[in-house]
Amino acid sequence: MGIEQWRRRGANSQATTEAGADIEPPTPQPVEPVSSQGSKDVLVAAPEPYDTMPWGELESVVSVCTACELSRSRRQTVFGVGNREADWMVVGEAPGAEEDRQGVPFVGRAGKLLDKMLAAIGLDRESVFVTNILKCRPPGNRDPKPEEMACCRAFLERQIELVGPKVILSVGRISSQNLLQRDVAVGRLRGSVHRFGPNGTPLVVTYHPAYLLRRPEEKWKAWEDLKLARGVLAPRESAT
Ligand code: SF4
Repeated sequence: MGIEQWRRRGANSQATTEAGADIEPPTPQPVEPVSSQGSKDVLVAAPEPYDTMPWGELESVVSVCTACELSRSRRQTVFGVGNREADWMVVGEAPGAEEDRQGVPFVGRAGKLLDKMLAAIGLDRESVFVTNILKCRPPGNRDPKPEEMACCRAFLERQIELVGPKVILSVGRISSQNLLQRDVAVGRLRGSVHRFGPNGTPLVVTYHPAYLLRRPEEKWKAWEDLKLARGVLAPRESAT
């Protein structure tokens, strides 16, 4: 991202903020959205049977999921790629047209910028796990609907549980608002280490690479966010 290189190191969802299958897959069940505040637009717990599923079964179930209307327009699901035991997990919004074609998250120009962002902190696609809130492309790249995010959330929660990341990097407004269950702009969510899920996994918010392509003058903020996230894992290194 045009910035110096760093040295490399090494769910159920409620969020709080700190300052600063060769198998017969089960039929996916739409999830009843339940909010921690009692409203109906936010899910707080991965339902059975997803919360005990191993990787292979989960991937198989996602690949045939028809729990929301996006299943009708997708070419294929985009499950996620990378190291399934990674310290870093990157969560974005939803597949775009090229992701829908390739079945891989973050490809194209935004994907290349994400790769540069990861390289800036000594990481690559093989050392992180990358996925999205939604596993299917919204037509025309429209914003995901709340009910679609609610239907898909259990899959993401199980992925987070299985990876067990030391830090989650949430990129963009949709992902961040959904994970943190806060209707707040990215500019106000970034700059703090939030906590996700019952294990309190550290979560850092930054801008989506697609946004940074449109607003390159904001890249320095993403750099600050990456340093913040790196500091969660290696506090002494983050000072530089
Ligand atoms: Fe299923 Fe998620 Fe795709 Fe909707 S977006 S069909 S819930 S995998």
